Amino acid sequence: MPASSPPLEQFKLFINGQSVDARSGRSFETQNPYTGQPWARLADGGPEDVDEAVAAARAAFDGEWGQMTGFQRAAVMRSCAAAVADNAERLALLEVNDSGKLLREMRGQLTGLPQWYYYFSGLADKVEGRTVPPVNPNYFGFTRREPVGVVGAITPWNSPLLLLTFKLAPALAAGCTMVVKPSEHAPASTVAFAEILHEAGLPAGVLNVVTGWERSTGEALAKHPGIDKVAFTGSSATGAKVAQAAVANFNRVTLELGGKSPQIVFADADLDAAANGLVAGVFAATGQTCMAGSRLIVHADVHDALVEKVVARANAIKLGDPTEADTEMGPVANRPQYEKVLGYLSGAAAEGATFACGGEPDAERGGLFVKPTVVTNVTPDNTIVREEVFGPVLAAYTFHDEDEALKLANDTPYGLAGAVWTKDVHRAHRVAAKLRAGTIWINAYRVLGPNMPFGGFGASGIGRENGVDAINEYTENKSIWVELTGGTRDPFQLG
Ligand code: NAD
Repeated sequence: MPASSPPLEQFKLFINGQSVDARSGRSFETQNPYTGQPWARLADGGPEDVDEAVAAARAAFDGEWGQMTGFQRAAVMRSCAAAVADNAERLALLEVNDSGKLLREMRGQLTGLPQWYYYFSGLADKVEGRTVPPVNPNYFGFTRREPVGVVGAITPWNSPLLLLTFKLAPALAAGCTMVVKPSEHAPASTVAFAEILHEAGLPAGVLNVVTGWERSTGEALAKHPGIDKVAFTGSSATGAKVAQAAVANFNRVTLELGGKSPQIVFADADLDAAANGLVAGVFAATGQTCMAGSRLIVHADVHDALVEKVVARANAIKLGDPTEADTEMGPVANRPQYEKVLGYLSGAAAEGATFACGGEPDAERGGLFVKPTVVTNVTPDNTIVREEVFGPVLAAYTFHDEDEALKLANDTPYGLAGAVWTKDVHRAHRVAAKLRAGTIWINAYRVLGPNMPFGGFGASGIGRENGVDAINEYTENKSIWVELTGGTRDPFQLG
């Protein structure tokens, strides 16, 4: 570290309402991808710390938090929401330091985050069962929605707090407790977040954070016999392992995974609006979003005109310091991801693709910057069309009619999101209905809210986050039968 570097910020584990060192005493540094310098030191938690955190979450579930009514939990959640709003700037800066994402984007995310806690606090006192009409008049039947219990949450490095919130807000509303293992590449904000929520009134043990450099820390949580559910966001490959670990314990699991989302642009579309949506879809956040609209499937008649517009805008994107107000694209978030993006670019060239713009690192800027890239002359079976790059790379190819557009769009193992660009309202609805993906935007891209379900078909995941039903992912449905006559019945007969 250069002599002039500021001292590293320190973050410990957060277990049972307290900041503690890892049992091993180990720690690790996390890098700022823009400066290339370490900026924080974190506790390097391992399986023994996961054990402790799970025990704390269990004790909170069996204790004060588990005894609260939905009305009481809602009040705590509203207080947490206000505390997140008060600390939005600090939390946004922590995320920028860790991930290199734009301060303007993270400010937007963090100031929007309280909405999730307000929205789900409104559901906390409405976790209702049903009265079920009797199949046998001698019985009264009803259901109860009960919290699943202790949730193990595992999150990725892009937007750690937003993706944690997709899990935590419904989990708290349902009455669950949680242990979260943030990504080793962007762990700091999650620790600060848990401290802030605790200070705002979230009882000790309800939210515990175990950071760790080794992937074995996440594995220990996913397979822990003391948890009742795993909520995971990350790559499809890791998601499959996490799901296997959860199933081995007969645990519930929700998975929010990767994507290769199509943006279909018909010839009648507003091409300026579509070009803007394509930029939002794949260059915002340096393309490091699960819902990146990374496949442009465009009508052959407007391919050249649209690509020209996207390239003009891409070439004008201002790369630079993520904390500066006019920066539009920051660096790739970490070196392994940077190498991965460059590998996809050289692979695309080797498979015969051409670059309408970009296609290389930003040599002048250095560091982990990759130029916004539009790849043309691709075929539907090219790797750049099939695999998730998770970087600022758009692959463009053509269709001639609606059926072909749909066939190309749905020709993917993923199904997280997609968009249709057209002025024809009939076609917009037809195509949106036939796209195999969890979220479709019509003449828009990259819009989210706490009240709209989010999740994927196929390799993009299992279950949905956000929306009123998300709370059901954190409840068990219990059926209760009450005998009404006081009599006895034939013990050898069912029902
Ligand atoms: P990743 O799968 O490498 O890691 C995700 C998390 O899992 C990290 O915390 C990591 O430490 C942990 N982990 C790794 N191996 C594990 C194991 N064997 N058991 C348990 N935990 C383990 O993903 P990433 O590189 O951090 O994030 C990028 C990926 O996340 C992309 O594929 C992206 O599409 C996806 N993503 C999806 C969504 C969504 O909502 N669908 C949102 C953001 C990111």
